[in-house]
This record gives sequence, C-alpha cells and structure tokens, in this order.
Amino acid sequence: MNTVVLGLQWGDEGKGKAIDYLAGSFSVVVRFQGGHNAGHTVYYQGQKVVLHVLPSGIFYPACSAVIANGVVVQPLQLVEEIRNARALGLSLQNLALSENAPLILPFHQELDVVFEDSRYQRIGTTRRGIGPAYEDVIGRRALFMGDLLREDVFRAKIAPLAEYYQRLFSAHGHPAGNLDEAIDRYLSAGAFLRPFVCNTTLLLQRAFAAQKEILFEGAQGTLLDINLGTYPFVTSSNTTIAGVFSGTGLSHKAVDRVIGITKAYTTRVGEGPFPSELTDENGRLLRERGNEYGSTTGRPRRVGWLDLVALKYAVQVNGVDSLFVTKLDVLDELEEIQAVVAYDGRGGLFSPHADALSDVRPVYHALPGWQKKLGAIERFQDLPRQVHEYLRFIEDFVGVRVSHVSIGGERRQTIEISG
Ligand code: GDP
Repeated sequence: MNTVVLGLQWGDEGKGKAIDYLAGSFSVVVRFQGGHNAGHTVYYQGQKVVLHVLPSGIFYPACSAVIANGVVVQPLQLVEEIRNARALGLSLQNLALSENAPLILPFHQELDVVFEDSRYQRIGTTRRGIGPAYEDVIGRRALFMGDLLREDVFRAKIAPLAEYYQRLFSAHGHPAGNLDEAIDRYLSAGAFLRPFVCNTTLLLQRAFAAQKEILFEGAQGTLLDINLGTYPFVTSSNTTIAGVFSGTGLSHKAVDRVIGITKAYTTRVGEGPFPSELTDENGRLLRERGNEYGSTTGRPRRVGWLDLVALKYAVQVNGVDSLFVTKLDVLDELEEIQAVVAYDGRGGLFSPHADALSDVRPVYHALPGWQKKLGAIERFQDLPRQVHEYLRFIEDFVGVRVSHVSIGGERRQTIEISG
C-alpha cells in the first residue's frame, strides 16, 4: 500500500517517529516538500538523530530514500547532514536527490532574517531561507540542483539573481554578504552531491510501475499549509496531500492510503492563533512532560488541548484514512483531559485564515484521565479504559479510525490497532 504520512496539526506531531516505525516495510521513502526547517526525531541504535532533509528511508539500506523535486535544498546543509549520517555508519548509497529541487541560495537565508526583523507582523519562521527560496520558484527566478552541477550554468544564472537581491537588500539598508566565497562553497557542495542527483520523477514513476511500495513523508503540518493553513502564519509549501503530487510528479493513482499524525494534545511554534492554548499549570505540565521544545530551533512550543474542530478540518482536507495518535503518555498524570468540540463565534467552523480564527472561543468536552504510566504497555487491549474512551471520542468526532497509538519516543512504544 503506497502510504502518505502527514501531520494534521501545526507540525511536530511526532512524524519522525511514526515514519520510522512504518518505513521498514517500504521500498521507497520520499520527502516531497519543505526543506531543512523540518526536524524529524528518530532513534537509531539507541542514539537520538534529528533528520532535517534526509528521508527516514536512509536507515534501511534496501529502501530508496528520495528527496524529490518539491523539496528546497540548501546544499551546504545537506552535505553536513550526509556526513553526520555517515558518521553513524550509514552508507547513504540508497539516497536520490532530485535535479529539479530548487536551491536555497545564500541571499535567501539573509533575506529571511531581514524580513523577519522588519515586517509589521512576524511569522516566526526558522530563518533558514525556505520561504524566500519558494518565492523565487513562484517568481520564476529559481535555480535548481541540476544547475549547481554545471559551474558555467550556475555562475551565469546566479549573477543576475544576486544583482536583484542586492537591490532588495540596499532598499532595506542591509549590506550584502560576500557572494564569491559562497559560490565556491556551493560549487564544492554540488560536486559532493553529484552522485546522488538524478531525475527522481522518473525514478518514482518506475518504482510505481514496478509496484514497489512507496512511503511519502510529509513535513510540518496541515495547519501550516501555504494555501489551507492559518495564513499568514504558515510555511511556504503545501504540507497537505496536494504537495505529494506537485512535489514528486506522481499522480493520485500512486496513493492508496493516507495516515494522519496527531498528538493527543496540540502544540504550535511561533506566532498565530491557537484557540485551545493553555497558559496555566496544565500547559506547563504538557510542555515539560512532552519535552515541547523545537528540535530545529530549540524554541519552547506553545501547548494546548486537542482541538477536534481543527483536527476534523485536517482529516477532511487530506482525505485521511486513519489516525496515528502520538504522545498519549504525556497525558498520563492528568486527572481530567479536555478536547475542543466546537467554536463559539464565527459560525463555529474552522476557518484557516488567522484573522478568522483569532477571536473564536473554544467549547470543551472533558474526559477522565487514566493516571497510569502507558510507556510499557504492548497490547491495545491492555491500555486503560479511559484511553479507549478518549480514542473512541476522537474517532467519533472526526469520523476516521485510530490505526496506531504512540506511548513513548522509542520505535517499540507503538501499538498498531488491527482494523
Ligand atoms: P516531528 O517533527 O513531527 O517528527 O516531531 P518532533 O520530532 O519534533 O517531535 C517528536 C518528539 O517527540 C521526538 O523527541 C520524539 O522522540 C518524541 N515522541 C514521538 N512520539 C512520542 C510519544 O508517543 N511519546 C513521547 N513521550 N514522545 C514521543
């Protein structure tokens, strides 16, 4: 079954762990959008590893790990990530990098910083140049991985773009960096990456035709989607199901199943509306027990109760088939758990635009907590009755079943629920 794994909230749902759990049974694992703003945490041979652009398939030598054309690539960062993975003993001979992946160039990162510091309303980006790189794609100015492999082409294409950015920087009173040095470093990175670069659309279409099982690894989350998220506090790519197709060159026929990842509560990093946000003792407890600090930026995450209105929207937008509920164990100590079941105001509906979401008042439904440690439980039927009730409540509200629950960061702390 070709499977798409997507985050259903504002990212950090534990996709890294879920994908790592699922990846072993696939022949191809593909990243299709985003960039190194993602931070997927997995444990490899007892060590914590945070993947930014490399797909989780790198841990399985028999599996192709594909960075497809929808991903924006910062070559220097990717080289470093590959070196770090090799230091863990991984060969990475199974890595494929799209020649059509847009490049994050030195001025993109600079521009991200200038904009975040100057704009009237901060978005809270990771300041890694992801947004400006995607802007260049839309602006039809972008350079691609294939361009970096041909020095003359790369130099010829980057020169007019650099001029364009210099004008932009001087308009913001910002000095431009030394590009010559950066170009040399990019070209060396290109030489290092050359063996991995290919036409990944062709590779994926062949894999599909040969009936190899493909896992599509989403980054960030549905509510951060550029078109369907809480605009403008969103990322610059399609984090929803739509991104799979434009980001790989495969059609909807290549997707058999969509698994949506949701935490048993909600978190959000950066700015933007968050109806179920908790600023009280429960919020502190969830942040500490859930270790809710960004894996890419270290920023403390905002935390809140599970928002079922938003979750239902995410399920519908993506055509989710089943839910993978993570971090249930973080709720272990709570006497009572709340979930948002309606919005008071604005017609009670989830509206993705931030302005519409900022003044809704959430209506909660309380459920009993289990006050037991879940981490060592191996079978679904052995989970406390209150966990079953909580999961059933979620299923009934959003209209799809829960197929997996996660009760700890380790791969083995996952329970698959037979359908
Ligand atoms: P991602 O970006 O969606 O992959 O999420 P992150 O990697 O930022 O967050 C996941 C973090 O939560 C990692 O440190 C995981 O090891 C951890 N994690 C994942 N699932 C669980 C779980 O069920 N329980 C607990 N306690 N931690 C989990």
